[in-house]
Amino acid sequence: CKGKGLNGFAFFEEGMEFAAFRRAQIERDLRQALAEERIEPFFQPLVSLTEGCINGYEVLARWRLQDGTLRLPDEFIPIAEDCGLIGEIYFAMLRRAAARPWPPATRLAINLSPIQFEDDTLVERTRQVLEETGFPPGQLDIEITESAFVSNLERARIVIAQFKELGIQMALDDFGTGYSSLRHLSEFHFDKLKIDRSFITDLADNPASQTIVRTITAMAHNLGLRVTVEGVESIENEADLLGFGCDVGQGYLYGHPAPQPETRLLPRSTGQA
Ligand code: C2E
Ligand code: CA
Ligand code: CA
Ligand code: CA
Repeated sequence: CKGKGLNGFAFFEEGMEFAAFRRAQIERDLRQALAEERIEPFFQPLVSLTEGCINGYEVLARWRLQDGTLRLPDEFIPIAEDCGLIGEIYFAMLRRAAARPWPPATRLAINLSPIQFEDDTLVERTRQVLEETGFPPGQLDIEITESAFVSNLERARIVIAQFKELGIQMALDDFGTGYSSLRHLSEFHFDKLKIDRSFITDLADNPASQTIVRTITAMAHNLGLRVTVEGVESIENEADLLGFGCDVGQGYLYGHPAPQPETRLLPRSTGQA
């Protein structure tokens, strides 16, 4: 592109080249980070609203850079999906989370990317990791978003059925955003539904959000699903959700994602973990 001067096209091309270069660089760094076990599981408490105790944790990936700072999943999960590394991240998170010593009955919730449905070894390798680590399949939740159903419905159906056969529970993540099809809820025999954080953000001052959360919860319960709510940040949120009959809460009120799992609930007055 040299010598083209102030030609817009040349600059555009250079921009594209730079983006591609940057991406290749991140991809290489990501491979290395995986090899060096610097993609780490963080744990965020899942709290039983009625009992007021922690009954499990969602496993959230963090990339620890050489200088110790952390990169958030939004910056590397999409790249990992594109370059075929998402499966390795999933198995690294599952293995490291499942291998920890946990109090009896602790549940773990792990995120599965929709493109992993294409991996023929997914279910068998998941079973193997659980067997090797001794983590009970009945205490594992696999969270998928509705975009899982966009590409290959039939494949999704088979894989979900196989997971459920192992005793693993399936959760529909980010419910209420994207392609919400109520049919998916019952047809795929989900065990849980996670109401998206966006409905909780304005819960206190938006009667529409209150109605939506209350109605989704009632419907889910009628279909035999349990309801988790993301983004619980205040005692007011908690009181509302308890009133709506939601089962489990997750959010900064109870604890941020952390490398060492929070084992007790902090006094409500301090709020954040
Ligand atoms: P998600 O599955 O919806 O996870 C919940 C996100 O909400 C997490 O962001 C969590 O840190 C954040 N969060 C939890 N409580 C609160 C709260 O009270 N307030 C606010 N503002 N945020 C809260 P995080 O860890 O940055 O992860 C973002 C997304 O990246 C996840 O959304 C998930 O879709 C994806 N992700 C994370 N780890 C993995 C992984 O191992 N595999 C795959 N495939 N995706 C992952
Ligand atoms: Ca999730
Ligand atoms: Ca979610
Ligand atoms: Ca999300």
